[in-house]
Amino acid sequence: MKKILLSGVVLMLSLSVFAQKTYIHAGRLIDVKTKKVLNEQTIVVEGDKILSVSSGYQSGGTEDKTVDLKNATVMPGLMDMHVHIESQTSPTRYLDGFRDNEADVAYKALPYAHITLMSGFTTVRDLGGSGVNIALRNAINSGLVVGPRIYTAGKSIAPTGGHADPTNGVRRDLMRDPGPDEGVINGEADARKAVRQAVKYGSDVIKVTATGGVLSVARDGSAPQFQQDELDAVVRTAKDFGIHVAAHAHGDEGMKRAVKAGIHSIEHGTMMTEETMEMMKSAGTWYVPTVTAGMSAAEYAKIPGYYPPVVRDKAMQIGAQIQQTFAKAYKKGVKIAFGTDAGVFPHGENYREFIYMTEVGMPNLEAIQSATLNAAQLLGIEEKLGTIETGKIADIIAVSGNPDEDIKAMKDVTFVMKEGKIYKQ
Ligand SMILES: [Zn+2]
Repeated sequence: MKKILLSGVVLMLSLSVFAQKTYIHAGRLIDVKTKKVLNEQTIVVEGDKILSVSSGYQSGGTEDKTVDLKNATVMPGLMDMHVHIESQTSPTRYLDGFRDNEADVAYKALPYAHITLMSGFTTVRDLGGSGVNIALRNAINSGLVVGPRIYTAGKSIAPTGGHADPTNGVRRDLMRDPGPDEGVINGEADARKAVRQAVKYGSDVIKVTATGGVLSVARDGSAPQFQQDELDAVVRTAKDFGIHVAAHAHGDEGMKRAVKAGIHSIEHGTMMTEETMEMMKSAGTWYVPTVTAGMSAAEYAKIPGYYPPVVRDKAMQIGAQIQQTFAKAYKKGVKIAFGTDAGVFPHGENYREFIYMTEVGMPNLEAIQSATLNAAQLLGIEEKLGTIETGKIADIIAVSGNPDEDIKAMKDVTFVMKEGKIYKQ
């Protein structure tokens, strides 16, 4: 017995001493901190960590692996701060909600998670689904299925009839009166309960719908939905758990209330005024624009019958405004983190956000910074992710072209490594 134990220890020791390292030869490497492109770099990865980054092409021993990305542009794994990994836009979306059981939702979500990772997004923040997103996060973390690292809100929180009330537009004899358990709150006590319930179920973040929204079967897309005491109670309760709150918002009054309550990020921000931008700057509130969602919804609205009429009208109005708001907020110096609302358009097309951001004035490398360093800061994980530096977790991707010159290169992701493991090459 002793002998077996001893040989086990010796084997473990020898494995760690002679663990295979991966030498990545990067023709171009984006330093997202300085927003500079470095030429001919070698990144050495051991286990799930980055061991070193150095100039020139170094090679390891015979037992080590070399990845040739000499003709590619290498950068940290991308992060999308606003996705809905459980679902994807479709003309049958509203009917599917009546047909699909949790298991159906889960199986349908697998290819969405897969394509997101293969598109270079190694981390996402899921801002609302049925709760299957929590199980999916766990399955990915335990290696059962392939997908990005997920920080999830579980189910979004809204007041009765609000954007995330799951019974909007449902025949009355089919709906129950939903409560905090379903993310529907009225008053401070409900607010506290819904947040505690979400944490109990496994949410990493809290999402509230501070104003109406485009895709819900509800009349208004921009009016405020919570009263101040309700938002305050949500944020205070979340703070006790050390987690942050993200607020979906199109109209300005709802945004102001959310910022006053101490919300961590404003999502969409369509009708954001300069006054609100100033408030966000002094409070340090993040802005996650999701321009792609607005553009896509406006496009789908042109297809007859794609959305119910009440949704179609809102999509036409609100849709394309977001890009101009983003341009103003960027010029004003509001903190911006990359987010797309993927699911509102097909998963895997997250790269489109880079094109929309740079079209209205954000430099290419700054857009990439917003999807790496800034996103890691938003999540509070910048000590371990978001840059390619010694000691950080090895989330590394590459595109074949040079996105510094042509941002469309972000579409062609040729290499994906997450936690030191290669998923695409
Ligand atoms: Zn969303």
